[in-house]
Amino acid sequence: MRRAIYPGSFDPPTLGHLDVIERAARLFDELVVAIGVNTDKAPFLPADDRLALLKECTSTLDNVKVTTFQGLLVDYARSVECGVLVRGLRAVSDFEYEFRVAMANRKLDPSIETVFLITRDEYSFLSSTVVREVARLGGDPSGFVPEPVARFIVGRRG
Ligand code: ADP
Repeated sequence: MRRAIYPGSFDPPTLGHLDVIERAARLFDELVVAIGVNTDKAPFLPADDRLALLKECTSTLDNVKVTTFQGLLVDYARSVECGVLVRGLRAVSDFEYEFRVAMANRKLDPSIETVFLITRDEYSFLSSTVVREVARLGGDPSGFVPEPVARFIVGRRG
């Protein structure tokens, strides 16, 4: 049984995240999408909403589970018996940060491997930061995020 974790903030989930989820779900028997809950930073979307939206967006992928976690990722990975961390790479600019995080995680737990997946090129410009900015300025987020997420963001405006 090959189980992997795809951790992130997913604030909000984007089409780039979904692309990585679909790719990883094909590579592993089970994929746990793990939303990191950081209590000292006010999020754009509350963790419960990110959880519900990611569940809705992945409902047709039978081997994908969505959860939240707090604290150290390697501790959480061990607790759910996952030996592989999946991260997405958009551009060379992601590499330096992702490399540092992967090295830190390897130091913390040498048994856990990090695997990088490269998204489709049309999503390589996409980040949650861009979507938050578009949403804040009243723009249409539907080209950037899965349909349930776009509906939710627009619905919140009232
Ligand atoms: P974090 O706050 O942990 O960086 P994010 O939710 O921003 O979490 O991203 C989670 C992971 O998904 C990271 O590895 C990030 O590089 C990757 N990612 C984000 N957007 C994209 C995208 N458009 N294409 C590929 N990977 C992406």
